[in-house]
Amino acid sequence: MNELKQAIITGGARGIGKQIALALASRKNNIILWDLLEEECQQTAREIEQQGVKCSYYLVDITDQKAVQEVINEITKDDRKIDILINNAGITKDNLIMKMTDQEFRKVIEVNLTGSFICTKAVIRNMIKNRWGRIVNISSVVGLFGNPGQANYSSSKAGLIGLTKSTAKEVASRGITVNAICPGFIQSEMTDKLSDKVKQAYMDNIPARKFGEAKDVANLVSFLVSDEASYITGEVIRVDGGLAM
Ligand code: NAD
Repeated sequence: MNELKQAIITGGARGIGKQIALALASRKNNIILWDLLEEECQQTAREIEQQGVKCSYYLVDITDQKAVQEVINEITKDDRKIDILINNAGITKDNLIMKMTDQEFRKVIEVNLTGSFICTKAVIRNMIKNRWGRIVNISSVVGLFGNPGQANYSSSKAGLIGLTKSTAKEVASRGITVNAICPGFIQSEMTDKLSDKVKQAYMDNIPARKFGEAKDVANLVSFLVSDEASYITGEVIRVDGGLAM
């Protein structure tokens, strides 16, 4: 019987999710990646297994409730536990509100917010049964202060804070904590596609005068899922070099 904790990381194939997966693996958690990108999943799984833990991946769309439930049933057969869920998968479809289509709005809400709800609902029964669990939702500073061109994204990330707090209140007495992290500007494939002008505008407003790295977020996740953080729940923590102060 393997005694290591099991952590699911959505969107764990690359970017911030990959760094979170590597950080949790280095602290001896078995890792389960949920993503859509097969090659990236394979590569990340190889790197994780070099740390001496198990890593599996599932090509699952987190907006597909039936598929998510099937994967959970598969993972939890033989009474296996889910200890940690990191709701990290997210997308952007930026546009000014005058031009934003219903489809652009709905899709971003569906992945970033509804997808996190679906994954949370899928694991929560298992965590309640085990009287231990850690859920970390990756929100964003734009969920706190808004951003032109991101009405859909900032709404989804603000919604994630509501999901965090409500879920935290529901399950706190069962040994489960639920917290949200709001990264600022973190260098990744998501931010690489922004123009130099947009990047400079961010930089001008970051007191630390540098962009964040995925490992800055991963370090906080590592702490929040640890036993040391057992009395922290419903909290929203920025990792942004002071951007949203
Ligand atoms: P990324 O695009 O590099 O990674 C996102 C991952 O999510 C990808 O691997 C993608 O395949 C996966 N994904 C997307 N839709 C999915 C779906 N329906 N089902 C399963 N997997 C799906 O982005 P990132 O920069 O690493 O961002 C990770 C998280 O951090 C996102 O939630 C993002 O909103 C948030 N965030 C990022 C920044 C930043 O500056 N990069 C800032 C604040 C918040």
